[in-house]
Amino acid sequence: MQVYADNAATTKISAHALQAMMPCFEIYYGNPSSLHTVGQEAKEVLEQARETVAKCLGCQPREIYFTSGGSEADNQAIRSAAFYGARKGKKHIISTAFEHHAVLHTLNALEKEGFEVTLLDVKEGHNITAQQVKDAIREDTCLVTCMYANNEIGSVLPIAQIGAVCKEAGVPFHTDAVQAVGHLQIDVKEQNIDMLSLSGHKFHGPKGVGALYVRRGIPLVNVIEGGAQERGKRGGTENLPAIVGMAAALEDACANMDANNAKVIALRDKLIAGISQIPHCDLNGDRANRLPGNVSFCFEGIEGESLLLLLDAQGISASSGSACTSGSLDPSHVLLAIGRVHDVAHGSLRLSLCHENTEEEIDHILTVVPQVVELLRNMSPVWRDLQTGKREYIL
Ligand SMILES: *Cc1c(COP(=O)(O)O)cnc(C)c1O
Repeated sequence: MQVYADNAATTKISAHALQAMMPCFEIYYGNPSSLHTVGQEAKEVLEQARETVAKCLGCQPREIYFTSGGSEADNQAIRSAAFYGARKGKKHIISTAFEHHAVLHTLNALEKEGFEVTLLDVKEGHNITAQQVKDAIREDTCLVTCMYANNEIGSVLPIAQIGAVCKEAGVPFHTDAVQAVGHLQIDVKEQNIDMLSLSGHKFHGPKGVGALYVRRGIPLVNVIEGGAQERGKRGGTENLPAIVGMAAALEDACANMDANNAKVIALRDKLIAGISQIPHCDLNGDRANRLPGNVSFCFEGIEGESLLLLLDAQGISASSGSACTSGSLDPSHVLLAIGRVHDVAHGSLRLSLCHENTEEEIDHILTVVPQVVELLRNMSPVWRDLQTGKREYIL
């Protein structure tokens, strides 16, 4: 049995999205910037896609800028707030310790340029509170950037409350909502969000395309210089097939959100309950405020990478928080941020589900994971030390 349980890394494109893209190759192949009919027809399709995306977020089409993905949107949002903040002498940015690298690495770069960054602690409940944001805001704060939902451990942040705090303090608020868009109900106006990043391939759209919502009146700087595309804020001929595919996928995701989530949450909770039976493991992330498809655990006495390889051999595609694939032996910054010690953080497993997963697949995972964990523990010197009392259990 093949089970794809890595939907937080990327999703399979939906048939509807794929179908929506085809005319962009065959009919609407014109350049939306061209003045002739073929170009203007492509332009019309582009603007329809913008309207669709705007409707799903509760904003105006003119507030949507298409990008090459979530990472570019994060870079542009943060760089823009930093640039305009610095002009007013404000060089302090607030974020969280468990952001995606697209945010954290942009903030690192800004620190080298003289900005001061406060990363909020996420140990308590594996989440942050709006009060933490409020307490961290200073006279010279030019941006609060907090992810909507965490990609590794699934915690959903109190975005509306953070938005309210930022609005009251007059500080621009950006959220990396890549894991939330298409999965959770979002209304950027009601939630007082000034900027929001999204990515097509996290909700069954194509890869290499995303968008940045920017509230009217918030100024942007360019990350990609070039032509006058995207109101002059993002140069480069628009990737029309991908943009149209993303809009179609988002429309579907928003229309079917309640039904999809009811199904996915039931599968998730069954998986969490089943895995929790394994001794000496612990759920990562916020139990109550959690992404519908996220299951994340740490197991004591095993290596996440070995676990993944053995699961893969049984047809299960999952992911681990450790960053060995990126050539580093350091465990995930997210797991360290929530207070997991190195050894425990190394034994992590993330299963991320979507509405296409089935009950039979969950049963298969629940048969295989306990077997594989036991097999690995039986080979582990760390596990032997734990069992003989030479080392103390943490979980
Ligand atoms: C996937 C992801 C990104 C990056 O999006 P890309 O479109 O792959 O660049 C950023 N933030 C979060 C939370 C993500 O899950």
